[in-house]
Amino acid sequence: MNFALTDEQRLLQQTAREFVQRVCPPRRAKEWDEGHVMPPELFAGIVELGWSALPFPTEVGGAGAGALETSIVVEELAHASFDVAMCLVSTLTPGLTILEWAAEPMRSALVADVIEGRQRLATGISEPDAGSDVGSLTTTAIRDGDEFVVNGTKMWCTGAGLPNTLITAYVRTDPSATGRRGISVLLIDPTSEGVQLVKIPTLARHILGTYEVVLADVRVPADRLIGQLDEGWSVLLSGLDLERVLITAGYVGAAQATLDEAVAYARQREQFGKPIGDFQAISHALADLHTEIAAARFLTRHAAWLHSQGEEIGVAGAMAKLYASETYVKCARWGMQVMAGYGFSTESVMSFRWRESIVATISGGTSQMQRNAIARSLGFRTR
Ligand SMILES: Cc1cc2nc3c(=O)[nH]c(=O)nc-3n(C[C@H](O)[C@H](O)[C@H](O)COP(=O)(O)OP(=O)(O)OC[C@H]3O[C@@H](n4cnc5c(N)ncnc54)[C@H](O)[C@@H]3O)c2cc1C
Repeated sequence: MNFALTDEQRLLQQTAREFVQRVCPPRRAKEWDEGHVMPPELFAGIVELGWSALPFPTEVGGAGAGALETSIVVEELAHASFDVAMCLVSTLTPGLTILEWAAEPMRSALVADVIEGRQRLATGISEPDAGSDVGSLTTTAIRDGDEFVVNGTKMWCTGAGLPNTLITAYVRTDPSATGRRGISVLLIDPTSEGVQLVKIPTLARHILGTYEVVLADVRVPADRLIGQLDEGWSVLLSGLDLERVLITAGYVGAAQATLDEAVAYARQREQFGKPIGDFQAISHALADLHTEIAAARFLTRHAAWLHSQGEEIGVAGAMAKLYASETYVKCARWGMQVMAGYGFSTESVMSFRWRESIVATISGGTSQMQRNAIARSLGFRTR
């Protein structure tokens, strides 16, 4: 395993860095968040640079990039905000699920639309009573002729309310089955009759928005099934590894930007006749965070490397997600302490980092669930 980036990877990183400065500097991302705005230039710019094609194979018009290259872009985008990075990730991961599992001709058409930026995707797994315990989901899809009739409620569906978005919804096609059995994946158009989207008021993540999706007798054509009937659990697992690498890279980028902002402030803010960063109480805290971000990045790149070797990332992914998300929270917490009164003012970008960071240890699998996975590798029973 070689941690040095190639010239191509550095160029990708530099391009993404410049994109953030030009299109979505953190203060602008904060304004979009406050205004609940997904500006068209953000996703259009991402598509124009070819990033919506990154992890797709060249045979289908993709860039054929690996997990590491894609995560480099995601890490840089997250310097604007984690939500900005999710503008790319939240469509890429279900897009790859469609690539792997959908039947033709839907597969080719949808993958081309995702690559070209005409189609956005959202993921509907969680429900009001099914969070960490995904296998307890109860939304049903009952076959009726050439259609499924879907009833239930999905929760926290990120980006479901944006234009041109389809939801990859995990539903129970065998209502007599429990747990991981009898689940299938259906592609649901949120503009269909019987779908009601309710934007959930949240502390942050307002650019994409998170939605409750109420499904009442929604008729979905049977050819919108992704993967085999009742085999949705395999579909779910197949996309988890790359998703974990990418969101973890997002936490690393957001943590790095948060630390950079705290360091810049500690250098220029003076008290008692010198920069506050010269007080060891401040500089040591920042030095620790600097170290922790480096560790989080190594864990993330290790997981990306495993993925690119065709291996399951398993515990390495859980460790990376756990550590990077908690590091982001810690950076924002310390950033508030370093900026003190100014940080507490909602004018500061740090106040936005703090609001956004707090959910890092929840969405994408909570810290407790990551610890459970790690503990299982030590031989402990966690269920
Ligand atoms: C901003 C945001 C975006 C999201 N985006 C999406 C999305 O796009 N699609 C989607 O499907 N979902 C999405 N989610 C849902 C997310 O995956 C869940 O919030 C997460 O899995 C936790 O579920 P929960 O909130 O219901 O908490 P619960 O599962 O109810 O957990 C509550 C608490 O109990 C702990 N706990 C639960 N079980 C165990 C256990 N076995 N051992 C130890 N502790 C346990 C948890 O760690 C947590 O601290 C999103 C959530 C948020 C907040």
